[in-house]
Amino acid sequence: VTRVGVGLDVGARWVHAVALREGTVVGAEVLAADDADAVASWVAALGRGVARVAIDAPSGLSAGAHAGDTTLAPKFRAARCGEVALGRDAGVWVPWVSPPAGATDVAPWITVGLSLFATLTGAGHDVVETFPHAVFRCLAGGARVAAKSTPAGLAERVALLRAAGVTDATLPLWGHDGLDAAAAALVAADPAARAVTCGHDGSAIWLPAAARSHL
Ligand SMILES: [Zn+2]
Repeated sequence: VTRVGVGLDVGARWVHAVALREGTVVGAEVLAADDADAVASWVAALGRGVARVAIDAPSGLSAGAHAGDTTLAPKFRAARCGEVALGRDAGVWVPWVSPPAGATDVAPWITVGLSLFATLTGAGHDVVETFPHAVFRCLAGGARVAAKSTPAGLAERVALLRAAGVTDATLPLWGHDGLDAAAAALVAADPAARAVTCGHDGSAIWLPAAARSHL
């Protein structure tokens, strides 16, 4: 059975979903963020070849494993191990950190992500967290990548996806949400993808195989 990887880019209103099989886009959809069951149905319709789902959102709230870690910037003492290790090991510091367990002011997109993790895990999928900006840095061999809000940044992401084997001719038309979902799908489809974490709280952010990058 050929391995299919599913990538989900999470926003407060929409989920961009991409499925890759050996570099071929076999599914692409924009789904309502408040309907995790519809996302699960979309994934289920891809069939039994789905090996993994990678989501661009925190997999959980923070247990505060690094609360007393004064070697970290104050913002990151509240973070989860995946966020801490991505910064320390890969040099990519996430722009947010996951809110603490019990928080009542969780950002809408993080709430959407948590719902997707729960629903897709409940449906029996292997679900991991990823961070597309770090995936693109990884595909670029550790080099900086232009901002995704710029034409140059979009073109760079398209070129990196193509160099990683994604063959779809329409990639330049996608926009950054779709390209982020494709980067997540690349991680999900990669049998050698790795979990970046320092391992104290069960969280991890997944990146493509180390052999392809200096990250
Ligand atoms: Zn840790």
